[in-house]
Formats: sequence, structure tokens, C-alpha cells
Amino acid sequence: MATLTFTGRDRYTTLRGTTSNCRRSAFSNGLEATAALSRKAFSEFDAMQMDGIDFERHDDGILQLFLQEQGLAAHAEDAKAMELLGMAPAQILSASEVRSLEPAIGKQVIGGILNPYDQFIDPASFVEALAARCLELGVRISTHEAVGEILPGRQGIVSIVTKRSEVHRAAAVVVAAGAQSGELLRKLGTKLPLQAGKGYGFDITRPPINFKRAIYLSDHKVAVTPLNSSLRLAGTMEFGSTDLRVDDRRAAGILRAAPHYFNSWSLQKTPVAWAGLRPMTPDGLPMIGHVPGHKNVFVAAGHAMLGITLGPITGSLLSSLILAGEEPSELTPFDPARF
Ligand SMILES: Cc1cc2nc3c(=O)[nH]c(=O)nc-3n(C[C@H](O)[C@H](O)[C@H](O)COP(=O)(O)OP(=O)(O)OC[C@H]3O[C@@H](n4cnc5c(N)ncnc54)[C@H](O)[C@@H]3O)c2cc1C
Repeated sequence: MATLTFTGRDRYTTLRGTTSNCRRSAFSNGLEATAALSRKAFSEFDAMQMDGIDFERHDDGILQLFLQEQGLAAHAEDAKAMELLGMAPAQILSASEVRSLEPAIGKQVIGGILNPYDQFIDPASFVEALAARCLELGVRISTHEAVGEILPGRQGIVSIVTKRSEVHRAAAVVVAAGAQSGELLRKLGTKLPLQAGKGYGFDITRPPINFKRAIYLSDHKVAVTPLNSSLRLAGTMEFGSTDLRVDDRRAAGILRAAPHYFNSWSLQKTPVAWAGLRPMTPDGLPMIGHVPGHKNVFVAAGHAMLGITLGPITGSLLSSLILAGEEPSELTPFDPARF
């Protein structure tokens, strides 16, 4: 359901947005740690494709648009900071330069930032292809089977009890239930602070404009992603709700953003909104590693606005921890025990 851009600048904004009450050093450390994971994110997707996992992936870059000079200046500074952390350089563009890239961009847009090396994927095609490859390799996947409880047992064996009272035993368990992970872990006696940040999106099957690349409407925080089957518009961050109900009034704000940036934007009919829950932590960083007090239970959650980008690298590093028993140094800043 999520929008799937891999924008470096978004990462920075996300961290800045969620750590504004933290000391500057904590913020910089978090940013550096996330950048270290992000630098390896693309090669994980490459490795999966080389393994035959075939999904929709676009590498035409991502263009951020601005209606106000102040916003452009702040994001240009962010872009420089990200470059110092080893992320690919971005290009600051004038109003006429952004229009030469995407002719539908309107006069209100004062400039932009092009991240030429950023990419996006279609998450549904990714998950389907990954599941198909797992099945080929003999993995058993149970769908529509909610886990009710996780129980530590003797000799390190962990039991997973489903809501239908079926019991599965395992030598290691990874809790990766997104915003609901906190609830599952609470039943295990561990309190980890996770809450949902609800976002909305629209998939427009007959878009009024065909864009060449993904575009981010910075002043309105809306991502516009030209997938093969539809144009996806997504955004908003709503705290306090844990279900997927759509607040039509809030969701409509996403559609209202587009005419501020594009000429001749008009929709024949209003598309249907969907909702998704981002798993959020208090410091804006994911929790990846051992669940404190439980040797064979692990958690991978709290990736906020970067769960698609960082999913594969998270899985890869966590599998090293579980199989080799040694924590890769990249995971230290994300240790769940920090809470
Ligand atoms: C509008 C929007 C835009 C976004 N844009 C981007 C983007 O551009 N780039 C990016 O990288 N990320 C983006 N994200 C964030 C990304 O979608 C999340 O970070 C990511 O989905 C988190 O992955 P997860 O596996 O931790 O949780 P989820 O994707 O929420 O998956 C958790 C799964 O666990 C299941 N589950 C929960 N409880 C149980 C239980 N008890 N038993 C069994 N299963 C259970 C749920 O049903 C769900 O399928 C966006 C999100 C939204 C909402």
C-alpha cells in the first residue's frame, strides 16, 4: 500500500521531523546510522533481482518540487548534509529547469531538487515476487492467520500461538508486525514504544498527466509515483489511529495538492482512497535486534517512512545476527534495548 520512493532527502526530513526534541548529536548519530543502512539498500534489491525475484523497479530519479524559496533552501542544505554522509549528490534546479524535465509543472513552482540516482518500486509486485521465490525455496507461508501470543519455552524453543489456537514452535522468532509489533511484544512482557502513523493514498488508473519520474510535492508532503498500472499519490501522517479506516476529508487533501504544482490537472472522477500504517518510534529510528530479555526472539519494526527502502537490508543484517550469533556493527544504533 505504501508509496515507494527511495529518496535520500526524505530520509533526512523524516529524521529531522521526528527528532526535533532531541539533542543535535543524537539527531546526527541517528542520521548517520540511517544513511549507513540506506547506502546498502539498493544493492540488496540488486541481489534479489539477480536471484530471479522479478518486480517493478524504476531508476529515473526523483524530483522534489517547491512553491517557496525557504523550503527549497532548507532541503538544499539537507541534500548537502546527505552528500557528506555518502549519499549520491542531488542537483538544485531553477523553475525553468524543472519545467524542462516535466513540462506539466506550473508557474507557482519556484524550483526543485533532482535526486537522479533515487529509485522507486511497486511494493505489491515486490512482495508477490519475493513470496513466490520463498515458496520455490520451500518456505511455508501462512496468510490470514493472526498471531495471538508468543511464548518462551524450554531450551530456547519459542511457541507462536495463533488466534485459531494453532501452535508453531521455532528456534528463533522475528516479530515484524509493523505498528502492531508493540502489542505482540507486550504480551511477552516487553514494552517497546511503537505507534501507528496513518497515511493515505490514491491509485489513479487514468492519470491526467504522464510523468517521466517520481515527484515529491514538498510543500504539501505528497509523493507522486508513476507506477506501470497507475499514478499513485500518497501522503499525510495521522497519529492515534490503529485501524485502516479512511478519513475522506484528510485524504482529499492529497488530491487538492496536485493543482498547486501542475497545469491541466483534472480528474474525471474522484478515486478511492486507501490507508496504510507506518510503524513509528519516539526517536525516529527502527528497532532491529534482540527483544530485551528474550534470547531467541527478535524484532524488526519501526521503520516509519522507510520500511520499503530498508526492508531488505534489515532482513539481511538480522539474518546474520540470528544465524552467526554476532551483531553486525550497522545494527548497534537500532538496538531495541535503547528504549
Ligand atoms: C502513505 C505511505 C507512504 C509511504 N511511503 C514510503 C516510501 O516512499 N518509501 C518507503 O520506504 N516507505 C514508505 N512507507 C512506509 C512503509 O510502508 C512502512 O515503513 C513499511 O510498510 C513497514 O513495514 P513493516 O513490515 O514493518 O510493517 P507493515 O508493512 O505494516 O507489515 C506488518 C504486517 O504484519 C501483519 N500483522 C500485524 N499484526 C499481526 C499479528 N498479530 N499476526 C500476524 N500478522 C500480523 C500486518 O497485517 C501486516 O501485514 C509509506 C507508508 C505509508 C502509509
